[in-house]
Amino acid sequence: MSAYASPVGSRTAAYSGDALFVGQLIGSDALIVFSALMALVAAAATGFYLAAKREAHAAADLAQSRSHFHAKAMQTVAVVEDIAGIGVWQFDPTSGIQEWSKGMRRLFGINHTEPFVEGDAETLLFANNVDLIGSVSERLSEQEGYDLHFDIYGFDGVHRSLCVQAKNTRSQDGTVVRVVAVVRDITEQLQRERDLEGSRAAAMLEASRALELAETDALTGLANRRRIMDRLDRMVMEAREADTSLALIMFDIDHFKQVNDTYGHLAGDEVLKSIARIAEAQTREGDIVGRVGGEEFVWVVPGANEALARIMSERLRHAVAMESATGPVPAVTMSAGFAELYGGDTSLSLFARADSALYEAKDAGRNQVRMAA
Ligand code: GH3
Ligand code: MG
Ligand code: MG
Repeated sequence: MSAYASPVGSRTAAYSGDALFVGQLIGSDALIVFSALMALVAAAATGFYLAAKREAHAAADLAQSRSHFHAKAMQTVAVVEDIAGIGVWQFDPTSGIQEWSKGMRRLFGINHTEPFVEGDAETLLFANNVDLIGSVSERLSEQEGYDLHFDIYGFDGVHRSLCVQAKNTRSQDGTVVRVVAVVRDITEQLQRERDLEGSRAAAMLEASRALELAETDALTGLANRRRIMDRLDRMVMEAREADTSLALIMFDIDHFKQVNDTYGHLAGDEVLKSIARIAEAQTREGDIVGRVGGEEFVWVVPGANEALARIMSERLRHAVAMESATGPVPAVTMSAGFAELYGGDTSLSLFARADSALYEAKDAGRNQVRMAA
């Protein structure tokens, strides 16, 4: 009991022994319980404090690791942008705030380490006549991604063609909360495409020139036999389909061998060229005239019947007789045979009929025109 012999107990000594004991007991236990309670409260408070402190530490750690993660993510984005040569542009249609990544600034020719102050973005877009905000604002209802193209002169004076691939990001209620765009420099790609298109066009032109040459008579520049036969086939088909007339006139220089023998082969060549020019001058649009042999020519006249073909042949014969003199060579004459396309004709039979009419004209004494039977 000595343990309970406290000054409090001593002051209650006037009471009975039991009372003294109880008094001692109550007095000292209350103090102990109180002290214990206080200790408990203190312990609890300490516990709470420590827990709160731990939590605060954890929160701080989390925040730090998050910002660390964010910084690393941004670094990664910057490296990805650098490698891919792209930029990222973001726009909040509610606040009107736009965000330019480092890559985006690089595309506009700005050193991305320099601070990007307020108004720079607007100035850059405005200076390049790029209405990026207007363009994306018009497309807020787009559900899919879309492309925009702009040509700019960056702050560094370099011309760039930019492709903006944008997409709207929506909240749960469907409102566009952000427009995210990946911006690429497609200047080189477009140049390559243009070069490729240029070479393709040049190759096509080359091929068509080669074909043209292959179907052109080198001396006179008229269609050669190959082109004439090819065109005649088509013209016959078209005349059949449209149920229109078609005539073929064959003509041949009279006694041309004598021209060569008298004035030489080169002078003979000049006569051939002269005849070609005279014949060309007689043709209408849609006609074709060609040189099908040494001094033998063909004139195909779509829409012409026998009567018209006769007039045209006579007019040509007359013109040759009047105008074909060239250099020392006096005017030559020509003979012609013509044929109108008949029901059973093919291009070859039409050709053959006109050819036999030509021989009739030759047989009849030359410098005249004959119609095919
Ligand atoms: P015809 O009145 O019967 O038509 O007699 P022709 O002398 O005109 O006919 P022929 O077939 O006997 O002779 C044709 C001549 O045309 C022979 C050839 O030397 C000449 N000739 C063919 N091609 C050319 C050419 O490209 N240039 C020159 N200068 N002469 C050519
Ligand atoms: Mg001849
Ligand atoms: Mg001949």
